[in-house]
Amino acid sequence: MTEKVVVLGAGTGGLVAANLLVSHGYDVTLVEKKDYHLFQPGMLWIAFQGHDPSKYMRRVDTLVKPGVNLLKDTVESIDLNERTVKLESGKTLDYDKLIIALGVSYDYDSVPGHRQLWETYGDYFSGPEHAQRLWKHVSSLREGKLVLAAADPLYKCPPAPHKAAFLSSYTLKKMGRKDKVEVILALPFIHAYPSETMAKIVEPKLEEAGVTVMTMFTVESIDVENKKIYSMEGEELEYDVAAVIPINKGPQIEITPDSVKDEDGFIKVNKYTLEVEGFDDVYAIGDCNNTPTSKTGVTAHLGAEVVVDRILGYDAKFTGRTNCPIVANGTATFVISSYEHPVIPVKFSKFKRMLEDLFIAAYWSSLRDPEKWRSVFKAYFEATDPTKLGESGW
Ligand SMILES: Cc1cc2nc3c(=O)[nH]c(=O)nc-3n(C[C@H](O)[C@H](O)[C@H](O)COP(=O)(O)OP(=O)(O)OC[C@H]3O[C@@H](n4cnc5c(N)ncnc54)[C@H](O)[C@@H]3O)c2cc1C
Repeated sequence: MTEKVVVLGAGTGGLVAANLLVSHGYDVTLVEKKDYHLFQPGMLWIAFQGHDPSKYMRRVDTLVKPGVNLLKDTVESIDLNERTVKLESGKTLDYDKLIIALGVSYDYDSVPGHRQLWETYGDYFSGPEHAQRLWKHVSSLREGKLVLAAADPLYKCPPAPHKAAFLSSYTLKKMGRKDKVEVILALPFIHAYPSETMAKIVEPKLEEAGVTVMTMFTVESIDVENKKIYSMEGEELEYDVAAVIPINKGPQIEITPDSVKDEDGFIKVNKYTLEVEGFDDVYAIGDCNNTPTSKTGVTAHLGAEVVVDRILGYDAKFTGRTNCPIVANGTATFVISSYEHPVIPVKFSKFKRMLEDLFIAAYWSSLRDPEKWRSVFKAYFEATDPTKLGESGW
C-alpha cells in the first residue's frame, strides 16, 4: 500500500519535501493556510528599495507538482499518539508519516510598545504589506535617524538586519540623503555580527556604507510617542523611523504530547535525523524545529532533502549547514558553517553576488522541481564545505 505522508506548511521546507516525495510515488497531502508563497528575503527589497511585492510572491498551487493533494486550511492541532492532524475546517487527517514545516510565529506583545511601533512603521519580517508600510516611511524620511534593531538575539536569517542596513544606506545615497539620514544598526551581540569571524569582514563594509553600529543593544521597551527605544543593557536610542525584528517563536498550534515543544514553542528534534523527539514517524524541518543552527531557507531546503531520503530508506543526516547571504552594494558574502565547523571567513566579492542573484533566480524552480537542482546544489555545498575550506575560508 502507498505510504500516506502529510506535510504541514507550504513554505520553503514543506514545498521541497512535498514535491520530492510525490515524484517518488508517495500519497502526499500538503496543508497551507495562505494562497501565496512569499520569498521572504524579498521583504528587504520591498521595505528598503520600494520593489513591487508581486515580484516575490507566487500562488501556492503553481508551486506544487501534479499529484500533491493541496489543502487550503489552517492546522489547529496535532496528536502524535493518535497520528492525527485537526484542521480549522473541521477535517481530521491521518498519516503514516508526518512532516511539520510550519515556520516561526511572531510575538509583538512581550516588548512594551512593539506592537504600536509595528502598526505605525511596519517591518521587513511579517509580510509584504508591512514591508510596504516601512518603505513608505523610509522613502519619505528627509533627515534624522533610521534605526534597525532586534527584540531578541534568536531570529531567522541572522544577517537580515545587516542586509537591511546595506540596502537602506544605498537607497538613501541614491536619493541624495546620505548625509542627512543616519542608518543605525542596533544589535544584541558583542560584535557587529553574532560570529566574530564574520564580524571582522562585515564591520568594515558597514563602515564604508556609512552605517552606525551599536552592539549589546537588546530592545527592552519602545516609547512610540517620544520616539525612543530602550535597551536591556540600559541605553536609550532616539529614532525618526524604526523597524524592530520581532521575537521569533515556534508555531502556534497545539501538539500532543506538549513535551515535544521547548519553552519557546520550537519542536524538539534529533539534530541529525530531524525526527521529533520520541516519534520515528514524525519530522520537523526548517524554522519550526530546535536544531542548533541558523533558521534559513537553505537549512529548510537541506532538511527537507534529508527527511525525504530517510523516508525513502536511506540513512541521511542533516549537517546543520548554513549558507546565509549578506548582500551589499554590488557584492555579497555568505555565512558558512555546520554542526562540525564554526563559521569560516568568507570575503565580499562580485562573484558571490552573482551566485546569490543566481540562487534568487532559481528559487521558484528549486521549490517546484527540487530534484532538478539537487546535483547543482550538492556540487556547490561540497565545493564550499566549511571543513574543507577551514580557517583560510573563501
Ligand atoms: C527578511 C528576511 C530575509 C531572509 N533572507 C534569507 C536568505 O537570504 N537566505 C535564506 O536561506 N533564508 C532567508 N530568510 C529565512 C527564510 O525565509 C526562512 O528561514 C525559510 O522560509 C524557512 O522555511 P520554512 O519552510 O521552515 O518556513 P516558512 O517558509 O516560513 O513556511 C511556513 C509555512 O507554514 C504556513 N503555516 C504556518 N502556520 C500554519 C498553520 N497553522 N496552518 C497552515 N499553514 C501554516 C505558513 O503560511 C508558511 O507558508 C530570510 C527571512 C527573512 C524574514
